[in-house]
Amino acid sequence: MSKKEILPDLGHWLLCALRVQIKSLKRAMSSLGKIRGLLIDLDGVLYVGETPVPGARDVLNRLVSEGISRRYLTNTTTLTASLVVQKLQRLGFEVGESEVFSPITATIQFLKNVGTPTVNPVVRDSVVPAFSDFPRDYERPDYVVVGDIGAAWSYPLMNTIFAQLHAGAELIAMHRNKFFQGEEGLMVDIGAFVAGLEYVSGKEAQVIGKPSLSFFQLALDSLQLPAVQVAMIGDDVENDVGGGIAAGMKGVLVRTGKYREGCEENRERPPDCILDSISDLFEQVDLQGEGRTL
Ligand SMILES: [Mg+2]
Repeated sequence: MSKKEILPDLGHWLLCALRVQIKSLKRAMSSLGKIRGLLIDLDGVLYVGETPVPGARDVLNRLVSEGISRRYLTNTTTLTASLVVQKLQRLGFEVGESEVFSPITATIQFLKNVGTPTVNPVVRDSVVPAFSDFPRDYERPDYVVVGDIGAAWSYPLMNTIFAQLHAGAELIAMHRNKFFQGEEGLMVDIGAFVAGLEYVSGKEAQVIGKPSLSFFQLALDSLQLPAVQVAMIGDDVENDVGGGIAAGMKGVLVRTGKYREGCEENRERPPDCILDSISDLFEQVDLQGEGRTL
């Protein structure tokens, strides 16, 4: 075959490949429809550990400049909302505290709605002061509140909580994630301990963070947009994407953070769109700004 014959073939092949790519992009956009607001997960989407995801800062800056409504929905229980904002600012993300929805804030609101129940907060030392409005009881608390305490889990601690649940305490799980992306790979998250406590006590935990519908609703109410016009972006196919879709939103999965190849397969609620990273957001999602900055 001569060079002249090969080149037109190659050109035709490239054109076909380009058309397929454009078609799949259009399909992704049309299945999402126009999106007027975003709920954005933090860990694994904007950063992993202390490292920002490449391009994430530029996307956030563009969301601000184009006036696209957004809120940040995290399951982090190692930092209060104000500490989360400090971390974001340290990593170069300009985010206000009122934009961040944290399971710690939502748990405190839940407890305040009850009144002034006694609690045993099983949380990191830095988070303990957030529960200062509630009296402590380490024998028969009204609620045991479980957050991420890293490697501090032990048999004596599990046994103490079990005794408190047995004595009548209710169990609050600030979330029940199975695993998270640590600096050295996937790591066991508090869902394993929550499941164990449920098993031994026969009690079902009240889950506050994602995928709790009421947690998504708090952020949706703040956006003042119908769920169908909002996309939840996360690296957790179950809690972010599945939870967001169950709350009526569009689910956008990113292939960063805890994402692993194929995790989206055989899902009852598959993602509406999958991005290699949040840096592809504007290319693949039809975003409609309000021309204002929130
Ligand atoms: Mg995440």
